[in-house]
Amino acid sequence: MTGTRVLVLNSGSSSVKYQLLDMSDSSRLAQGLVERIGEQTSRLRHTPLATGEPRERSGPIADHEAALKAVAEELAEDGLGLDSPELAAIGHRVVHGGKHFTEPTVIDDAVLAEIERLIPVAPLHNPANLTGIRTARALRPDLPQVAVFDTAFHTTMPEAAARYAIDVKTADEHRIRRYGFHGTSHAYVSRATAELLGRAPEEVNVIVLHLGNGASASAVRGGKCVDTSMGLTPLEGLVMGTRSGDTDPAVIFHLARVGGMSTDEIDTLLNKKSGLIGLCGDNDMREIRRRVDEGDEQAKLAFDIYIHRLKKYIGAYYAVLGRVDAVAFTAGVGENAAPVRAAAVAGLETLGLAVDDERNAVRSDEPRLISPAGARVKVAVVPTDEELEIATQTYALVEGNRYAAPPRGN
Ligand code: AMP
Repeated sequence: MTGTRVLVLNSGSSSVKYQLLDMSDSSRLAQGLVERIGEQTSRLRHTPLATGEPRERSGPIADHEAALKAVAEELAEDGLGLDSPELAAIGHRVVHGGKHFTEPTVIDDAVLAEIERLIPVAPLHNPANLTGIRTARALRPDLPQVAVFDTAFHTTMPEAAARYAIDVKTADEHRIRRYGFHGTSHAYVSRATAELLGRAPEEVNVIVLHLGNGASASAVRGGKCVDTSMGLTPLEGLVMGTRSGDTDPAVIFHLARVGGMSTDEIDTLLNKKSGLIGLCGDNDMREIRRRVDEGDEQAKLAFDIYIHRLKKYIGAYYAVLGRVDAVAFTAGVGENAAPVRAAAVAGLETLGLAVDDERNAVRSDEPRLISPAGARVKVAVVPTDEELEIATQTYALVEGNRYAAPPRGN
Protein backbone atom coordinates (compact mmCIF):
# COMPACT_ATOMS: atom_id res chain seq x y z
CA MET A 1 0.00 0.00 0.00
CA THR A 2 1.31 3.47 -0.80
CA GLY A 3 0.64 6.59 1.21
CA THR A 4 -1.35 9.57 0.02
CA ARG A 5 -0.34 12.15 2.64
CA VAL A 6 2.03 15.02 1.91
CA LEU A 7 3.59 17.27 4.54
CA VAL A 8 4.25 20.77 3.20
CA LEU A 9 7.00 22.74 4.95
CA ASN A 10 7.71 26.44 4.52
CA SER A 11 10.83 27.13 6.54
CA GLY A 12 11.81 30.71 7.31
CA SER A 13 14.84 31.89 9.26
CA SER A 14 12.99 31.75 12.60
CA SER A 15 9.72 30.08 11.68
CA VAL A 16 8.26 26.95 10.13
CA LYS A 17 4.78 26.90 8.60
CA TYR A 18 3.36 23.49 7.80
CA GLN A 19 0.31 21.67 6.51
CA LEU A 20 -0.43 17.98 6.24
CA LEU A 21 -2.70 17.12 3.31
CA ASP A 22 -4.31 13.94 2.08
CA MET A 23 -3.94 13.95 -1.69
CA SER A 24 -6.57 11.24 -2.24
CA ASP A 25 -9.10 14.08 -1.93
CA SER A 26 -6.83 17.16 -1.47
CA SER A 27 -8.15 17.59 2.07
CA ARG A 28 -6.21 19.25 4.87
CA LEU A 29 -5.53 17.11 7.93
CA ALA A 30 -3.54 19.53 10.08
CA GLN A 31 -1.77 22.86 9.89
CA GLY A 32 0.40 24.98 12.11
CA LEU A 33 3.17 27.45 12.67
CA VAL A 34 6.30 27.48 14.81
CA GLU A 35 7.48 31.03 15.47
CA ARG A 36 10.48 32.71 17.08
CA ILE A 37 12.69 29.61 16.79
CA GLY A 38 15.93 30.15 18.72
CA GLU A 39 14.37 32.58 21.17
CA GLN A 40 13.10 32.07 24.72
CA THR A 41 9.57 32.93 23.61
CA SER A 42 9.12 30.36 20.82
CA ARG A 43 5.56 29.32 20.10
CA LEU A 44 3.96 26.39 18.29
CA ARG A 45 0.35 26.67 17.23
CA HIS A 46 -1.07 23.45 15.83
CA THR A 47 -4.56 22.79 14.51
CA PRO A 48 -5.82 19.30 13.65
CA LEU A 49 -8.56 19.90 11.10
CA ALA A 50 -10.63 16.98 12.45
CA THR A 51 -11.52 19.05 15.52
CA GLY A 52 -10.50 22.53 14.35
CA GLU A 53 -9.35 23.15 17.93
CA PRO A 54 -5.90 24.80 17.99
CA ARG A 55 -3.29 23.70 20.54
CA GLU A 56 -0.42 25.92 21.63
CA ARG A 57 2.99 25.27 23.13
CA SER A 58 5.23 28.06 24.30
CA GLY A 59 8.76 28.09 25.68
CA PRO A 60 12.15 27.91 24.01
CA ILE A 61 12.50 25.88 20.80
CA ALA A 62 16.23 25.98 20.12
CA ASP A 63 16.47 25.31 16.39
CA HIS A 64 14.70 23.93 13.32
CA GLU A 65 15.42 20.37 14.39
CA ALA A 66 13.68 20.91 17.72
CA ALA A 67 10.84 22.71 15.88
CA LEU A 68 10.25 19.83 13.49
CA LYS A 69 10.42 17.29 16.33
CA ALA A 70 7.77 19.30 18.19
CA VAL A 71 5.61 19.37 15.04
CA ALA A 72 6.06 15.59 14.67
CA GLU A 73 4.93 15.10 18.29
CA GLU A 74 1.83 17.23 17.75
CA LEU A 75 0.96 15.32 14.59
CA ALA A 76 1.52 11.98 16.38
CA GLU A 77 -0.92 13.07 19.08
CA ASP A 78 -3.57 13.34 16.36
CA GLY A 79 -2.67 9.92 14.95
CA LEU A 80 -0.95 11.61 12.00
CA GLY A 81 2.66 10.80 12.92
CA LEU A 82 5.48 11.37 10.43
CA ASP A 83 6.50 7.72 10.82
CA SER A 84 3.17 6.64 9.31
CA PRO A 85 3.33 4.65 6.04
CA GLU A 86 0.52 6.96 4.92
CA LEU A 87 3.09 9.77 4.49
CA ALA A 88 4.16 9.73 0.82
CA ALA A 89 6.53 12.72 0.75
CA ILE A 90 7.53 16.05 2.21
CA GLY A 91 7.19 19.09 -0.07
CA HIS A 92 9.40 22.06 0.69
CA ARG A 93 8.82 25.60 -0.45
CA VAL A 94 12.15 26.86 -1.78
CA VAL A 95 12.24 30.54 -2.66
CA HIS A 96 15.02 30.71 -5.23
CA GLY A 97 15.64 28.03 -7.83
CA GLY A 98 17.53 30.27 -10.26
CA LYS A 99 17.38 29.43 -13.97
CA HIS A 100 18.18 25.80 -13.35
CA PHE A 101 15.07 24.57 -11.53
CA THR A 102 12.12 24.83 -13.88
CA GLU A 103 10.08 22.07 -12.21
CA PRO A 104 9.48 20.62 -8.75
CA THR A 105 12.48 18.43 -8.03
CA VAL A 106 13.16 15.39 -5.86
CA ILE A 107 15.91 16.47 -3.48
CA ASP A 108 19.24 14.68 -3.47
CA ASP A 109 22.71 15.89 -2.51
CA ALA A 110 23.28 17.54 -5.91
CA VAL A 111 19.99 19.46 -5.63
CA LEU A 112 20.93 20.62 -2.13
CA ALA A 113 24.29 21.82 -3.43
CA GLU A 114 22.59 23.79 -6.22
CA ILE A 115 20.14 25.45 -3.80
CA GLU A 116 23.16 26.34 -1.68
CA ARG A 117 24.95 27.79 -4.72
CA LEU A 118 22.00 30.16 -5.15
CA ILE A 119 22.39 31.69 -1.66
CA PRO A 120 24.11 34.84 -3.02
CA VAL A 121 20.90 35.73 -4.94
CA ALA A 122 18.57 34.77 -2.05
CA PRO A 123 20.60 35.41 1.10
CA LEU A 124 17.58 35.65 3.42
CA HIS A 125 15.46 32.79 2.13
CA ASN A 126 17.50 29.91 0.71
CA PRO A 127 19.57 29.26 3.88
CA ALA A 128 16.37 28.91 5.92
CA ASN A 129 14.81 26.64 3.27
CA LEU A 130 17.97 24.50 3.29
CA THR A 131 17.86 24.16 7.07
CA GLY A 132 14.27 22.94 6.82
CA ILE A 133 15.17 20.40 4.14
CA ARG A 134 18.22 19.06 6.01
CA THR A 135 16.22 18.70 9.21
CA ALA A 136 13.36 16.89 7.48
CA ARG A 137 15.78 14.56 5.66
CA ALA A 138 17.47 13.67 8.94
CA LEU A 139 14.08 12.88 10.46
CA ARG A 140 12.87 10.70 7.56
CA PRO A 141 15.89 9.82 5.36
CA ASP A 142 13.89 7.14 3.55
CA LEU A 143 11.13 9.50 2.41
CA PRO A 144 11.14 11.43 -0.90
CA GLN A 145 11.59 15.13 -0.24
CA VAL A 146 10.59 17.51 -3.01
CA ALA A 147 11.63 21.13 -3.56
CA VAL A 148 8.94 23.35 -5.09
CA PHE A 149 10.50 26.62 -6.22
CA ASP A 150 8.90 30.09 -6.08
CA THR A 151 10.80 30.95 -9.24
CA ALA A 152 9.96 27.85 -11.31
CA PHE A 153 6.71 29.09 -12.88
CA HIS A 154 8.53 32.14 -14.21
CA THR A 155 11.29 30.25 -16.02
CA THR A 156 9.14 30.27 -19.17
CA MET A 157 9.62 34.04 -19.54
CA PRO A 158 11.23 34.98 -22.83
CA GLU A 159 14.72 36.51 -22.63
CA ALA A 160 13.27 39.88 -23.65
CA ALA A 161 11.30 39.93 -20.39
CA ALA A 162 13.82 38.19 -18.16
CA ARG A 163 16.93 40.23 -19.05
CA TYR A 164 17.72 43.64 -17.67
CA ALA A 165 19.30 46.06 -20.13
CA ILE A 166 22.67 46.05 -18.44
CA ASP A 167 26.04 44.82 -19.67
CA VAL A 168 25.50 41.18 -20.63
CA LYS A 169 28.87 39.93 -19.39
CA THR A 170 28.45 41.52 -15.95
CA ALA A 171 24.86 40.33 -15.72
CA ASP A 172 25.81 36.75 -16.59
CA GLU A 173 28.80 36.71 -14.29
CA HIS A 174 26.62 37.65 -11.33
CA ARG A 175 23.50 35.80 -12.51
CA ILE A 176 21.54 39.05 -12.64
CA ARG A 177 18.17 38.65 -14.36
CA ARG A 178 14.46 38.72 -13.59
CA TYR A 179 13.61 35.51 -11.76
CA GLY A 180 10.22 36.44 -10.28
CA PHE A 181 8.68 35.02 -7.10
CA HIS A 182 5.29 33.88 -5.74
CA GLY A 183 5.40 31.47 -8.70
CA THR A 184 3.47 28.74 -6.91
CA SER A 185 0.64 31.19 -6.33
CA HIS A 186 0.71 32.58 -9.89
CA ALA A 187 0.62 29.00 -11.25
CA TYR A 188 -2.28 27.97 -9.03
CA VAL A 189 -4.31 31.14 -9.55
CA SER A 190 -3.86 31.31 -13.33
CA ARG A 191 -5.01 27.68 -13.62
CA ALA A 192 -7.93 28.20 -11.20
CA THR A 193 -8.97 31.30 -13.18
CA ALA A 194 -9.13 29.28 -16.40
CA GLU A 195 -11.24 26.72 -14.54
CA LEU A 196 -13.55 29.49 -13.31
CA LEU A 197 -13.96 30.61 -16.92
CA GLY A 198 -14.72 27.00 -17.91
CA ARG A 199 -11.78 26.93 -20.31
CA ALA A 200 -8.48 25.09 -20.63
CA PRO A 201 -5.44 26.97 -19.23
CA GLU A 202 -3.79 26.69 -22.69
CA GLU A 203 -6.59 28.82 -24.14
CA VAL A 204 -6.61 31.78 -21.78
CA ASN A 205 -4.46 34.82 -21.11
CA VAL A 206 -4.55 36.04 -17.54
CA ILE A 207 -3.06 38.92 -15.56
CA VAL A 208 -2.57 37.64 -12.01
CA LEU A 209 -2.31 40.21 -9.23
CA HIS A 210 -0.95 38.57 -6.06
CA LEU A 211 -1.49 41.31 -3.48
CA GLY A 212 -0.41 40.23 -0.02
CA ASN A 213 2.12 41.83 2.29
CA GLY A 214 4.50 41.02 -0.56
CA ALA A 215 2.90 41.74 -3.93
CA SER A 216 3.57 40.77 -7.52
CA ALA A 217 1.86 40.77 -10.90
CA SER A 218 2.31 38.31 -13.72
CA ALA A 219 1.27 38.03 -17.34
CA VAL A 220 0.30 34.43 -18.16
CA ARG A 221 -0.26 33.40 -21.78
CA GLY A 222 -1.87 30.00 -22.30
CA GLY A 223 -0.78 28.78 -18.86
CA LYS A 224 2.82 29.99 -19.22
CA CYS A 225 4.31 33.03 -17.52
CA VAL A 226 5.59 35.61 -20.02
CA ASP A 227 6.39 38.44 -17.59
CA THR A 228 6.35 39.16 -13.88
CA SER A 229 6.97 42.19 -11.70
CA MET A 230 9.44 40.85 -9.14
CA GLY A 231 12.99 40.60 -10.37
CA LEU A 232 16.39 39.45 -9.17
CA THR A 233 14.87 39.69 -5.70
CA PRO A 234 11.31 40.20 -4.40
CA LEU A 235 11.95 43.96 -4.12
CA GLU A 236 11.00 45.03 -7.64
CA GLY A 237 7.56 45.89 -8.98
CA LEU A 238 4.41 46.75 -7.07
CA VAL A 239 4.18 48.84 -3.91
CA MET A 240 4.14 46.32 -1.04
CA GLY A 241 3.55 46.34 2.72
CA THR A 242 7.13 47.30 3.56
CA ARG A 243 8.96 47.14 0.18
CA SER A 244 9.25 50.05 -2.22
CA GLY A 245 8.81 48.09 -5.44
CA ASP A 246 10.09 50.00 -8.50
CA THR A 247 12.36 52.97 -7.91
CA ASP A 248 15.01 54.64 -10.04
CA PRO A 249 18.15 52.58 -9.25
CA ALA A 250 19.98 55.91 -8.91
CA VAL A 251 18.04 56.48 -5.67
CA ILE A 252 20.48 53.98 -4.18
CA PHE A 253 23.60 55.83 -5.37
CA HIS A 254 22.07 59.08 -4.14
CA LEU A 255 21.35 57.68 -0.68
CA ALA A 256 24.91 56.34 -0.50
CA ARG A 257 26.73 59.40 -1.86
CA VAL A 258 24.56 62.23 -0.61
CA GLY A 259 22.70 60.55 2.26
CA GLY A 260 25.82 58.77 3.59
CA MET A 261 23.92 55.53 4.07
CA SER A 262 25.58 52.11 3.97
CA THR A 263 24.49 49.35 1.59
CA ASP A 264 22.87 47.48 4.47
CA GLU A 265 21.01 50.58 5.62
CA ILE A 266 19.65 51.18 2.12
CA ASP A 267 18.70 47.51 1.84
CA THR A 268 16.74 47.76 5.11
CA LEU A 269 15.16 51.05 4.04
CA LEU A 270 13.87 49.70 0.73
CA ASN A 271 12.87 46.23 1.96
CA LYS A 272 11.55 46.91 5.45
CA LYS A 273 10.77 50.60 5.87
CA SER A 274 9.28 51.56 2.53
CA GLY A 275 6.09 50.65 0.64
CA LEU A 276 2.89 51.33 2.52
CA ILE A 277 4.55 51.44 5.94
CA GLY A 278 7.09 53.99 4.75
CA LEU A 279 4.41 56.09 3.09
CA CYS A 280 1.90 56.22 5.93
CA GLY A 281 3.13 54.22 8.94
CA ASP A 282 0.75 51.29 8.36
CA ASN A 283 1.18 48.22 6.17
CA ASP A 284 -2.19 46.62 6.81
CA MET A 285 -4.66 47.55 4.08
CA ARG A 286 -7.58 47.31 6.54
CA GLU A 287 -6.05 50.01 8.70
CA ILE A 288 -5.17 52.16 5.67
CA ARG A 289 -8.73 51.96 4.36
CA ARG A 290 -10.09 52.87 7.80
CA ARG A 291 -7.83 55.93 7.84
CA VAL A 292 -8.78 56.87 4.28
CA ASP A 293 -12.47 56.68 5.22
CA GLU A 294 -11.77 59.04 8.12
CA GLY A 295 -10.18 61.55 5.74
CA ASP A 296 -6.51 60.88 6.61
CA GLU A 297 -4.46 62.55 3.83
CA GLN A 298 -1.28 60.53 4.38
CA ALA A 299 -3.14 57.22 4.18
CA LYS A 300 -4.98 58.47 1.06
CA LEU A 301 -1.68 59.30 -0.66
CA ALA A 302 -0.25 55.88 0.24
CA PHE A 303 -3.38 54.21 -1.17
CA ASP A 304 -3.23 56.31 -4.34
CA ILE A 305 0.45 55.46 -4.93
CA TYR A 306 -0.33 51.76 -4.39
CA ILE A 307 -3.20 51.90 -6.90
CA HIS A 308 -1.29 53.99 -9.45
CA ARG A 309 1.49 51.38 -9.58
CA LEU A 310 -0.99 48.52 -9.79
CA LYS A 311 -2.82 50.17 -12.66
CA LYS A 312 0.47 50.72 -14.52
CA TYR A 313 1.21 47.01 -14.33
CA ILE A 314 -2.27 46.05 -15.50
CA GLY A 315 -1.77 48.31 -18.53
CA ALA A 316 1.75 47.02 -19.16
CA TYR A 317 0.73 43.37 -19.02
CA TYR A 318 -2.30 44.06 -21.18
CA ALA A 319 0.13 45.31 -23.80
CA VAL A 320 2.49 42.35 -23.27
CA LEU A 321 -0.35 39.84 -23.72
CA GLY A 322 -2.18 41.65 -26.51
CA ARG A 323 -5.39 39.86 -25.63
CA VAL A 324 -6.51 39.48 -22.03
CA ASP A 325 -9.27 37.07 -20.98
CA ALA A 326 -9.16 37.72 -17.25
CA VAL A 327 -7.57 39.76 -14.48
CA ALA A 328 -7.39 37.75 -11.24
CA PHE A 329 -6.93 39.25 -7.77
CA THR A 330 -5.47 37.05 -5.03
CA ALA A 331 -3.72 36.97 -1.59
CA GLY A 332 -4.64 38.94 1.55
CA VAL A 333 -5.35 42.30 -0.08
CA GLY A 334 -6.52 40.97 -3.45
CA GLU A 335 -8.99 38.52 -1.89
CA ASN A 336 -10.37 40.87 0.76
CA ALA A 337 -10.02 44.52 -0.20
CA ALA A 338 -12.92 45.41 -2.52
CA PRO A 339 -11.87 49.12 -2.69
CA VAL A 340 -8.43 48.09 -4.01
CA ARG A 341 -10.00 45.97 -6.75
CA ALA A 342 -12.46 48.69 -7.73
CA ALA A 343 -9.79 51.40 -7.81
CA ALA A 344 -7.29 49.27 -9.75
CA VAL A 345 -9.60 48.86 -12.75
CA ALA A 346 -11.43 52.20 -12.48
CA GLY A 347 -11.21 54.11 -15.77
CA LEU A 348 -10.09 51.06 -17.77
CA GLU A 349 -13.47 50.49 -19.42
CA THR A 350 -11.98 51.08 -22.86
CA LEU A 351 -9.78 48.04 -22.21
CA GLY A 352 -12.94 46.07 -21.44
CA LEU A 353 -12.21 46.11 -17.70
CA ALA A 354 -14.77 46.92 -15.04
CA VAL A 355 -16.10 45.60 -11.74
CA ASP A 356 -19.73 45.23 -10.75
CA ASP A 357 -20.07 46.93 -7.35
CA GLU A 358 -22.49 44.39 -5.94
CA ARG A 359 -20.40 41.41 -7.03
CA ASN A 360 -17.22 43.11 -5.82
CA ALA A 361 -18.72 43.56 -2.33
CA VAL A 362 -19.44 39.83 -1.86
CA ARG A 363 -17.16 38.15 0.71
CA SER A 364 -16.40 34.50 0.00
CA ASP A 365 -13.61 31.92 0.08
CA GLU A 366 -14.64 30.68 -3.37
CA PRO A 367 -13.25 31.79 -6.74
CA ARG A 368 -15.73 34.25 -8.23
CA LEU A 369 -16.28 36.76 -11.02
CA ILE A 370 -16.69 40.42 -10.06
CA SER A 371 -16.95 41.87 -13.59
CA PRO A 372 -20.40 42.76 -14.94
CA ALA A 373 -22.34 39.96 -16.67
CA GLY A 374 -21.17 39.54 -20.26
CA ALA A 375 -17.94 41.51 -19.77
CA ARG A 376 -15.36 40.97 -22.52
CA VAL A 377 -12.53 40.72 -20.00
CA LYS A 378 -13.44 38.91 -16.80
CA VAL A 379 -12.29 40.29 -13.47
CA ALA A 380 -12.02 37.57 -10.85
CA VAL A 381 -11.19 37.01 -7.20
CA VAL A 382 -9.38 33.69 -6.89
CA PRO A 383 -8.16 32.73 -3.41
CA THR A 384 -4.65 31.37 -3.63
CA ASP A 385 -3.59 28.11 -1.98
CA GLU A 386 0.17 27.75 -2.15
CA GLU A 387 0.25 24.78 0.23
CA LEU A 388 -2.22 22.81 -1.87
CA GLU A 389 -0.23 23.63 -5.00
CA ILE A 390 3.05 22.51 -3.36
CA ALA A 391 1.37 19.30 -2.15
CA THR A 392 -0.17 18.67 -5.59
CA GLN A 393 3.15 19.14 -7.39
CA THR A 394 5.00 17.06 -4.78
CA TYR A 395 2.52 14.22 -4.94
CA ALA A 396 2.39 14.18 -8.73
CA LEU A 397 6.17 13.94 -8.83
CA VAL A 398 6.54 11.14 -6.29
CA GLU A 399 3.63 9.22 -7.75
CA GLY A 400 5.28 9.37 -11.17
CA ASN A 401 8.68 8.60 -9.68
CA ARG A 402 7.66 6.11 -7.07
CA TYR A 403 9.65 3.22 -8.47
CA ALA A 404 12.43 5.31 -9.96
CA ALA A 405 13.23 7.36 -6.85
CA PRO A 406 16.62 6.27 -5.56
CA PRO A 407 17.02 5.69 -1.82
CA ARG A 408 18.42 8.79 -0.18
CA GLY A 409 20.83 9.02 2.69
CA ASN A 410 21.75 12.12 4.66
P1 AMP B 1 -0.85 37.84 2.81
O1 AMP B 1 0.58 38.26 2.72
O2 AMP B 1 -1.40 37.27 1.56
O3 AMP B 1 -1.16 37.02 4.03
O4 AMP B 1 -1.68 39.22 3.02
C1 AMP B 1 -1.57 39.96 4.22
C2 AMP B 1 -2.18 41.32 4.02
O5 AMP B 1 -3.54 41.20 3.58
C3 AMP B 1 -2.30 42.14 5.31
O6 AMP B 1 -1.12 42.85 5.56
C4 AMP B 1 -3.45 43.07 4.99
O7 AMP B 1 -2.93 44.25 4.40
C5 AMP B 1 -4.25 42.36 3.94
N1 AMP B 1 -5.60 42.00 4.40
C6 AMP B 1 -5.97 40.89 5.07
N2 AMP B 1 -7.30 40.92 5.32
C7 AMP B 1 -7.78 42.06 4.77
C8 AMP B 1 -9.08 42.67 4.69
N3 AMP B 1 -10.16 42.10 5.22
N4 AMP B 1 -9.15 43.85 4.03
C9 AMP B 1 -8.08 44.43 3.50
N5 AMP B 1 -6.85 43.91 3.55
C10 AMP B 1 -6.68 42.75 4.18
